[in-house]
Formats: sequence, structure tokens, C-alpha cells
Amino acid sequence: MTESFLETPVEFLKGVGPARAEMLKKELQIFTFGDLLTFFPFRYVDRTRIFKISEIKNDTAWVQLQGKITEVQTVGKLHAKRIIARLTDSSGSIELVWFQGHKWILDKLKPGIEYIVFGKPSWFNGRLNMPHPELELLSEPTMGVMDVIRPFYSSTEKLKAKGLDSKGISRLVKSLITNERFFIPETLPKEILSNLKLISRQEAFLNIHFPSGLEILKKEENRLKFEELFFVQLRMLHQKFFRIHKQSGHVFPVVGKYLNDFYHDYLTFELTNAQKRVIHEIRADLGSGRQMNRLLQGDVGSGKTMVALMTMLIALDNKYQACLMAPTEILANQHFQTISKMLDGMNIRVALLTGSTRPATRKKLLSDLTDGTLQILIGTHALIEERVQFKNLGIVVIDEQHRFGVAQRARLWEKNVIPPHILVMTATPIPRTLAMTLYGDLDTSVIDELPPGRKPIITKHIFESQGDKLYYFLKQRIQAGNQVYIVYPLIEESETLDLKNLQEGYDMVRNLFPAPQYSVSMVHGKMKQQEKDLEMKRFLNKETQIMVATTVIEVGVDVPNASVMVIENAERFGLSQLHQLRGRVGRGNDQSYCVLITGYKLTSDARKRIETMVRTTDGFEIAETDLQLRGPGDLEGTRQSGLLELKIADIVKDEKILRYARNLAADIIQDDPTLEKKENAILAAHLRILSRRQENWGLIS
Ligand code: ADP
Ligand code: MG
Repeated sequence: MTESFLETPVEFLKGVGPARAEMLKKELQIFTFGDLLTFFPFRYVDRTRIFKISEIKNDTAWVQLQGKITEVQTVGKLHAKRIIARLTDSSGSIELVWFQGHKWILDKLKPGIEYIVFGKPSWFNGRLNMPHPELELLSEPTMGVMDVIRPFYSSTEKLKAKGLDSKGISRLVKSLITNERFFIPETLPKEILSNLKLISRQEAFLNIHFPSGLEILKKEENRLKFEELFFVQLRMLHQKFFRIHKQSGHVFPVVGKYLNDFYHDYLTFELTNAQKRVIHEIRADLGSGRQMNRLLQGDVGSGKTMVALMTMLIALDNKYQACLMAPTEILANQHFQTISKMLDGMNIRVALLTGSTRPATRKKLLSDLTDGTLQILIGTHALIEERVQFKNLGIVVIDEQHRFGVAQRARLWEKNVIPPHILVMTATPIPRTLAMTLYGDLDTSVIDELPPGRKPIITKHIFESQGDKLYYFLKQRIQAGNQVYIVYPLIEESETLDLKNLQEGYDMVRNLFPAPQYSVSMVHGKMKQQEKDLEMKRFLNKETQIMVATTVIEVGVDVPNASVMVIENAERFGLSQLHQLRGRVGRGNDQSYCVLITGYKLTSDARKRIETMVRTTDGFEIAETDLQLRGPGDLEGTRQSGLLELKIADIVKDEKILRYARNLAADIIQDDPTLEKKENAILAAHLRILSRRQENWGLIS
């Protein structure tokens, strides 16, 4: 009942009404009072300070000015139309510019009257201007005392046109908290509040929207950040408990002929200790009677495929089928080749299913899958997107996990009454904080050891102008019998530009390394599957010495004789991508090299990325740096996961709070897994509300 206030549809708020409500939903996903309340300001500004226009310097950030509009003009035509207004104070003047929302701005701009203007100054053609500033009349002060520290809410042009700019939103929030029914129920037990010295939820919400001082704000923020992170953790650990104790899984009690034969007669090398340990962990899961949901992290080249294969053989030993999913066709293909070769002579039926499998082949394959004669199916996500029916699917291995979202993972579960075991493999090490938040419901295994005899890859950074040196170096390597990758970046906005880039690179390489002495392959995303495969095969068979490619070769591809990775325009790649690419070499016995080529002008982030790559090959260190540089929202896979829709906490900046929240949540779940104890009732109730809001999280009992 207490929640029902917060769940009231936003159109019932004074000052909203149907039209604005529609807009709030569309533009900001604000549906209810509660949504509005958790729409936090993104910035606060001390509104007691007013700048003189002459005080603005090159690097001045947000400022508040006071002056008169002395001139308004509309310039440009159609799409390039903009409004320019001149604001003048006693010290000088500045141009205010609007590129959109012309009509309501024109209505609002009245020459000769004093305005308070707020925005971010910039320089254009040597002239000072301020794009899309906020405007208010000096004679119409907004919120009295509460406005000393003014909150800023993000808004959109459409909302602004309806009067819902930052200030308008602030007004709505005010109308909400002055509502006579306004009450925010507490979500944390008293004990936690007093132990952690957290302020009440109601107080926190009031003050985050209308802080009485900038220092006080810290307290409110901490309370809300803690709450947010704590419930993510609690929900995840609760779910994990549920999976482990309530959700049954197929039991694979035996290790039989398939695995034993393979291990003794077909395996051509000794497993590393890390591989043995991980297989051990997996076996324990598979025999436990509960569904396995395990994340296997192992740096590139650490031998995850072998672990996947042996895991699948355990399923086969127990009369179940297995499937292996890869993010790209090239990779699925390669897995299929590798695994077929490893199993050659063992009388196990393995097949490949991708988007380019021929209809006739597919038909046969699907029927063999349904009657169980087909034991291992390898493919792309075509495996889950189509109506693929297994006879008894026991295990799903997902390779290079970061390309599969949580939703896709969940779809696999629906394939059977008892969900198959799931092993998720990733070569992009996930920083601990992120793993905790994203995959906190999974068990994790780590292969922290490379097969013996690997020499660390030597990484060098050179500038474009040093091409000659590189050329002689490559020539040398090729003479010594090694092969070389040369990778060009993919510019998402322009595929044609990409191809041009790549084609030019290819032509240049062919000029430098002419036939018949040399031969060069090229692979890119626009090629037909067969062409790609053909080129890959030629490279693998050493018919070509140089492979010119875009990032299609980024994941998984395994050509042990390739020992040099040259990355053109390396500044355009993200860290995890660079790390993946570098992982394509260093797989054989020869010393391997990675050469990062960049222009002279580098942004500080780009420089940091290059420096990191040169300094270390440790995937975890690289992942941490990546997270620091980009923030969690930009990391692959996290955006669509929905799990990181944190409103106020930031897992990088608030790592301490996150760890604290994680530990506390773990203690509580350990002590009271189903949250039945009286003191935890409040937590259970809030979890239910949260899971009702996010239908996907329906696992909470
Ligand atoms: P990734 O973890 O990147 O998927 P792969 O499974 O492709 O790594 O393995 C990389 C290479 O190392 C492969 O050629 C594989 O055959 C080889 N390999 C795997 N495990 C071992 C081992 N224990 N000893 C020697 N070589 C191994
Ligand atoms: Mg792999």
C-alpha cells in the first residue's frame, strides 16, 4: 500500500496531465511517481555565483550569466537554420545559439529584459558563444531557498518544447514531494541503517533533489548508491541460491568411454594444471544434480576449447547431446574443424550449423538432431534463433561470451523442461567489479596459466612514418617461415570507407610483397562465407604468408604459424579489441610480435591504451584499464544486459560501496537464503517489488 503512491501513474501528478505524461514516458521512460523520483539530477550548480561575460576563459565549463538580450536573428535555411541571440552584460557580450526548437525559443526571447542564462560556453570561429543555454527571467526566480544549489536534470528538445526543461522537471519533482500523500517507505532494515550510518530513504530522496549544501549531498548519494548496489547483489545471490537449490539439472554421474578414450588415446599434449582444475570444477557441477551455470575466463590461447570439448564428452558419456555456440561463422567453422580433427577416429557425430548451411544439409542435420544420432552440434547463434530441436540437450557451451547478452542466455534455458548445463567461455577477462555486477549469478572458473613453451609476445608501437623499418622486419619474419596478419580498423559509420581503406592497404601490401615470391590473403565482413573460408584455409595451409583483414579475425581464429600481428590505425581500436587481436599470435613455438601503428596525434585515452598494450599482456590488467577508461556502460555486452542500468552508482567510482554491498548481501543470503526471517521481511518485500518491475527477473520465488 505504501508503494502504491510511488507506483501511481505520472499523469496524476499535478502539472503533468496526459500530453506531458506521454512525453515523459516516451522521452525519459518515466511512467510512475517512483520513476520520476529516481530520475536524479546529473549535476548541481551553485547558483549563488554569477559570472561576468569577460571572465569566461577558454576552458570555462558551466557558467551562469546575467544580462539583457540585445539582438535576435534567425540565420541559415531549412535544416541549417539556427537562432542567434546576443546577451550583453556590463563587461561584454556573448552569442546564444539554438539549432533546434526554434519556435518556442523565439517566443521566449524578449529584447531589453534581464535574463539569467546558464550553459557551457564555447568558441566558434574565434567568437564566444553558448549553444542551447537555459534561460530564465530575472524577475521570475524559481524556487527560493531550495534553489541555492540547483539540480540539473537531463531533458530533450521535445520535452523542453512542452515546458519540461531541467527547471520544469525540477518543478514536477517539487510538486511530487509536496503532495500530501508523499511518503517513501524504507527498504533497508534498521540495523543496516544504523550500522552503516545511512540516512533514511525518504530523507535521501528529498535531499538528492533539493540539497541544502554540496557537502551534505555526499551522504544522500551514499545512501542511494548503497541501496542500489545492495539490491542488485541481493537479487543476484538470491537467484543463484534458487538455481543451486531449487532448480534441478541433468545429472551426469559417469565419466565413461568417450572421455577416457579421448584423454588416453587422442589428446596430443598434457593438460595444464589450470585446465585440469577447471575440468574438475565442471565435473563436480555436472554430477551435483543442479544446473551448472559457469563462467570460464581464460586469456586468449589458454586452451579453453579443450575444456569445452572435454565437458561436452562428459555429456555424451551420459547419453546426452551437446552444443557449442560461437559468435561468428568463421569461429564456428574453426571450432568445427578443430573439434572434428581432435575427435577423428572416435566415431562421434559432429555437425556444423550456421546461417549459410544449405537447406538440404540443414534438413538432414535437424532430423538427426531430433532423433539423437547427431551428438555434438557446433554453430553460431542460428542455434538458438531457429527452431532447433534436440533429442536431449545436456550442455551448451557458449564461446566468447561477451557477444551474447543475458537475454540470449536465458533463451537457451527455455529449450528444455530441465535446462541444459551452461558453460560460458570468455577470453575478455572481466574486471572483478564488473563480473560481480554482471555475472554475479554465475559460478566462475579461471584458467590462469598458458600452455608451456609460450614466449611472451613482444609489442611495439610505431608511427605511420616508420613504415620502412616495419617492411624490412616483416620481410625477415616471412623469410624465416612465419606468417603475418595486418589488420585494418572497422569504421562503423561507413562500410564503404572501410573497404576502401582495406583495399588500399591490400594493394599496398601486394606492391611491397609482390607475387610470385609472396602471396597475400584478404578477409573482410562483406565477403561470402565460402570466400572467407577459402582465404582462411589458404592462410592456415601456409599458401599465403600475409593475411590482410578487418576485425573479423578478432576472435578465436587459430593459426599457430602466424607470429606477427600488425595493427594499422591502432588508436582507433578499443583495448579489449587490441588484446583480442594480439591474442591471434603467440600460439606457436616462435617468438611472436605485435606492432601497433598510429599517427602522431593521439588523444590521451588512445595514448593510454597503446601504452597499456606495450607494457603488459595480462588480460586482467588490460580489462581493468579498459573499464577505467571507458566506464562500464561502454564495455561490450553490458549495455544490453539491463543489469547495469544503475541510476546513481558507478561500479568503477563506487567500487568500495559495491564490495561492501556484495559482502553484506552474501552474509544475509547465507544466513537466511529465502529471506524468511522477520528482520529480513523488508528486504524480501522490496525484492518482490523490484522483480515485478523487471519481469525478466521472474526467478524470485
Ligand atoms: P583459447 O583459450 O584462446 O580458446 P585455444 O583453445 O584456441 O585457446 O587454444 C590455443 C592453442 O593451444 C590451441 O592450438 C590448442 O590446441 C593449444 N593447447 C590447448 N591446451 C594446451 C596444452 N595443455 N598444451 C599445449 N597446447 C595446448
Ligand atoms: Mg577460443
